[in-house]
Amino acid sequence: MSAKTFVPHSFSREILVDPPVEIPTVHISPLALSEMHAYVSIASKEVGWLGLCDELEDGDYLIERTFLLEQEVSSAETDISDDGVAKLAQELLAAGYNDDDLNRLLFWGHSHVNMDTSPSGQDDKQMEVFRDSGAPYFIRAILNKRGKIQVDVYDYSQGLTFVDIEWTIHHEKYDVKERIEKDFKAKVSEAPVVTYRGGGKHARRSYYEDMYGNVMTKENNVVEWKDNFKSQAQKTHPEVEAATYWNSYGYYDADIWEEIDND
Ligand SMILES: [Zn+2]
Repeated sequence: MSAKTFVPHSFSREILVDPPVEIPTVHISPLALSEMHAYVSIASKEVGWLGLCDELEDGDYLIERTFLLEQEVSSAETDISDDGVAKLAQELLAAGYNDDDLNRLLFWGHSHVNMDTSPSGQDDKQMEVFRDSGAPYFIRAILNKRGKIQVDVYDYSQGLTFVDIEWTIHHEKYDVKERIEKDFKAKVSEAPVVTYRGGGKHARRSYYEDMYGNVMTKENNVVEWKDNFKSQAQKTHPEVEAATYWNSYGYYDADIWEEIDND
């Protein structure tokens, strides 16, 4: 039986890479995002800037902050001048950054003003310049006044370009945890708590433990335990009147207390 006539099918057009390529996400610090929003807001021409960028352990990238380049802008695309980069390097060294920081200038952003964020031929040529300068990778962001940011990652070491990838606002860079923890300790307290253990029809064998670690069983002197709890609660929660602990917080179940008291 002869074969049917060969016809093109709908091709799946996949490339299988081993190991599989993970598409990175670009994290932008709130500071860098605010800086870029200001550049794009202020500029009526295609202004550009560089930024400090790190590759994170999971292969994502973090843009920490950005620096405006000295440049002559026009309505047409402007390239990054060697002069502008050299002046920025001087400015950063004078501000206390070091050579390692200069090597982290792996982010380039520029505004397309009101135009779409797709790269121009000049924008693509600029990425070849970065590659030829020996950078391991370079991230390009193109922004416009319509609130769009397109991010492309040129991974020169792998020979891969990730186009229009996901970007996100990165908050973890700001180490506020210690300060907030202190603030929490000073300002936030828990209401007095008595935890009921056991219960139901076995209430006679149940017991209570308060937030101070005092445990009441039916063997204990219940009245004494209640008084202890009240006085300790008064110290840690002076804003609450002792007489109201039981009722307003509802931790005291009169029936169960009586059940135990009477047992
Ligand atoms: Zn451009």
